[in-house]
Amino acid sequence: MRRFNFLLYSDYETESLKLMRNPDVSVRSRGVMEKCTYCVQRISAAKIEADKENRNIRDGEIVTACQQACPADAIVFGNMNDPNSRVSKLRAQQRSYQVIADQNARPRTQYLAEVLNVNQELEVTPTEFAPAKG
Ligand code: SF4
Repeated sequence: MRRFNFLLYSDYETESLKLMRNPDVSVRSRGVMEKCTYCVQRISAAKIEADKENRNIRDGEIVTACQQACPADAIVFGNMNDPNSRVSKLRAQQRSYQVIADQNARPRTQYLAEVLNVNQELEVTPTEFAPAKG
């Protein structure tokens, strides 16, 4: 989702706050549009490492900051063009869905619906609803 910075949220002046900032991430100012970059700085770092070793980026090698911070392991990031990646397998699950899919927005982020009471009469087996292990 895009978000516009109507105000200057960042404190550029306080000296002690400067050390808490991630030097790999620019701090946007008032009047700038914000959007998740899928931690492009981490993607670039992984690309550089893979290039140096003359290989492709491995599945699970890139971990976004929010994914890393999530104690419930609720976020999975990966190459959705690789059918064998963990994220592709999760996206292929029947309970995977996109928001505003009816408007053909085709967002990269997809969600897994929570199934609390699986109907045994359905064709889908309960094991398909088990949380993925990373
Ligand atoms: S931490 Fe998460 S929300 Fe923020 S840029 Fe990275 S992937 Fe996007």
